[in-house]
Amino acid sequence: MERPQYHLNDIVELKKPHPCGSKVWIITRTGIDFALKCRGCNHRIMLTRKDFERSVKRVIIEETPS
Ligand SMILES: [Zn+2]
Repeated sequence: MERPQYHLNDIVELKKPHPCGSKVWIITRTGIDFALKCRGCNHRIMLTRKDFERSVKRVIIEETPS
């Protein structure tokens, strides 16, 4: 089974909404750890790739790598 690829600046929807009400986050770092920035309140979080993949519901906008 092919795993989805995530890129810097991809916009993703998480399963659980942030306390600010937004479920939309921007990927600001990829690798072993992922960093996300909330689109609602600019709060930043760090997740392991495993936690990130578990938390993501879908990719809304996929940044094409240049
Ligand atoms: Zn937020």
